[in-house]
Amino acid sequence: MRSPLHCNCGQRIFSRDVTQQGYHQRRFGPSYVYVRFRCSRCKRLGEHFIRQEDWEEGLLNEEVSEISQNERRRFEAMGKITVAEMADFHFKLEKLTSISPPRNEQSKR
Ligand SMILES: [Zn+2]
Repeated sequence: MRSPLHCNCGQRIFSRDVTQQGYHQRRFGPSYVYVRFRCSRCKRLGEHFIRQEDWEEGLLNEEVSEISQNERRRFEAMGKITVAEMADFHFKLEKLTSISPPRNEQSKR
């Protein structure tokens, strides 16, 4: 996740604060996405230029809180899924020789 946009005052900028958004293409060098905003806290206007390769849809979205604060903390504490964990999962799947059919399947036999 890219670092979110902030106003000079430190307030985070969301899509609802954006007054204008555009694309600044240059013949040479990187292209930019520009975002003009009015800060929801200090009400000042500001703008950001973000290199196209650094731009990401959702940068201005508010975080969707599908998970609770406790879950978030737990996930953060667990860290990223490591390659070792993925390998472990893979081996466990391979060892899985049979999956019990659902009960209604069994009753037919
Ligand atoms: Zn501000």
